[in-house]
Amino acid sequence: MESILFTNVRVLDCSGAAPYAGAVLVRGERIEAVWPVAAVPQVGDARTLDGRGGTLMPGMIEPHAHLTFTDCARSVEMGFIPVEEHLLIALRNARTMLEAGFTSCVSAASAKKRLDIVLRNAIAAGEFPGPRLLAASPEMTVTGGLGDVRLPHMYRENFAVILDGADEFRRFAREMCREGADTLKVNVSGDAGTPSAPAQRTVMSEAEIHAVSEVALDFGKRVAAHARSAEAVKRCLYYHVEILYHATLLDEEALDQLESVREHVFVAPTLGHLYATLFEAEPWGLTAEGGRRLGLEEELQRGIESAKALHRRGVRILPGGDYGFAWNPIGANARDIEHFVKLLGLSPMEAILSATKLGGQIMMRGHELGQIRPGYLADLILVDGDPLANVGLLRDRDAIKLVMKGGSVCVGEGMHA
Ligand SMILES: [Zn+2]
Repeated sequence: MESILFTNVRVLDCSGAAPYAGAVLVRGERIEAVWPVAAVPQVGDARTLDGRGGTLMPGMIEPHAHLTFTDCARSVEMGFIPVEEHLLIALRNARTMLEAGFTSCVSAASAKKRLDIVLRNAIAAGEFPGPRLLAASPEMTVTGGLGDVRLPHMYRENFAVILDGADEFRRFAREMCREGADTLKVNVSGDAGTPSAPAQRTVMSEAEIHAVSEVALDFGKRVAAHARSAEAVKRCLYYHVEILYHATLLDEEALDQLESVREHVFVAPTLGHLYATLFEAEPWGLTAEGGRRLGLEEELQRGIESAKALHRRGVRILPGGDYGFAWNPIGANARDIEHFVKLLGLSPMEAILSATKLGGQIMMRGHELGQIRPGYLADLILVDGDPLANVGLLRDRDAIKLVMKGGSVCVGEGMHA
């Protein structure tokens, strides 16, 4: 592999330090050296890439990815797609994410059993372009829970696998471990739009969560939960669930419990999906009035308050907005970083660190992902402008001038130079 020297860049290294004019040398798949000076260092054998004053920062990391979701309006549409076509969509989505500047993704559920797993493997083998991926199981849900779209007279599926009782959960969780999933996903609370189980309901039993948690421990995997209600979050924490998605309807007790284990858990409030569903889904028949009737307005407001409280208490909150629906499409994921600034009041630096430095941690590779430091993997993006002055740049495809993953330029002007 060739060596590349980035010159004439502002380095936003995502350690938390202010950006500085400098140069970065990439050798093989890793960053070899970082010079915090504008003067060009002499590196004989490296190809020089002039960053033209742009910002060089780590590739973004999506903690709640659905690379197998199809940007559909109704989740039941996913159930109608045969697995072969579905894989092609997933491959396309993976490329889209990379082009949008995301070099790593933690999947928050695969729409079919093995889609995430084969996608992860194909990307890791260099066969197809895409971000580094931690693969998830499909969403494990209960009869009547989020994702159960069956009718009494007609079997239908979408993205979920419906299981009842600890034994069924245990068997399916083990099957997914056998197939190679990194994460076991459970739908513990309900969700707006599921009449039998709205967001404030907690429908997965303690025994069922316990069963999945035990399997994860035995096989060395992680559990991630769809947990909107305070009770769902508490049940998850009792059984050591590490990744809490949504956590929108928290009470004081849930906040206290999350704070007490803040070194061990990650929370991704997924505000993007709530926001877009409430305010931008009208072309698909979801009016703001309809959203209010579903409780989305109240949930967004409470979700904002919950996330703010978690941030104040030092709990790691990460972006990730359930991108993969018609009004919230894959590739727009960096919008959640902007939501962190505009809706939660984080500083642009804090919001960017949540998608880089903390992203490395949720990838379980904080020692080599999510920052620009010697020895770290060379997952980098070059942004035309200053994302600290305008975080919206991170979701502007034209502003992402170059994407490098593992030392290879995969998107951008350096590609054929
Ligand atoms: Zn999701």
